[in-house]
Amino acid sequence: MEKLTKRSAPVDRSPMTLKERIYLPALLKGMSITVGHIFKKKATVQYPEEKRSFSPVFRGLHILNRDEQGRERCTACGLCAVACPAEAITMEAAERKAGEQHLYREEKYAARYEINMLRCIFCGACEEACPKDAIYLSETVMPPNYTRESFIYKKEDLLIAKPKNDTQA
Ligand code: SF4
Ligand code: SF4
Repeated sequence: MEKLTKRSAPVDRSPMTLKERIYLPALLKGMSITVGHIFKKKATVQYPEEKRSFSPVFRGLHILNRDEQGRERCTACGLCAVACPAEAITMEAAERKAGEQHLYREEKYAARYEINMLRCIFCGACEEACPKDAIYLSETVMPPNYTRESFIYKKEDLLIAKPKNDTQA
């Protein structure tokens, strides 16, 4: 039969030598590797007592940002949802009413905004796509939970109390 790729290698079916049959050399070789690792620097840490610092480009949980006057920046344009490769973002837009200028920066705002963190791959495309600087990925690690529903973060979970700017970590 013609091979599809050139990656296959022939299997050596020759009888085992005495050295291979007594297994001892292979066993000692394996043990020497194990013992050698005892004296090496440990790759693991005693989490949660000991924590590793994150990379400067780490992307954690999302936040919905406010402007300098504390108004919601998001205008429910949907660009983040369109940019999201995991289709994790859903929202419903609403129109700002008279007297709500202190709550929402734009005439249209997100009455409902949800991110399904079980779908999210923390790629940051939503942050890049947002023309209003309304969504950021923070340095907070998503906490574990027991139910699928708890991983659907609503606007109330995402919206921060105070505005964050680009100079802040
Ligand atoms: S970080 Fe990426 S996957 Fe997660 S919601 Fe934003 S665009 Fe979607
Ligand atoms: S977070 Fe930004 S991109 Fe997403 S709907 Fe709001 S304003 Fe548009």
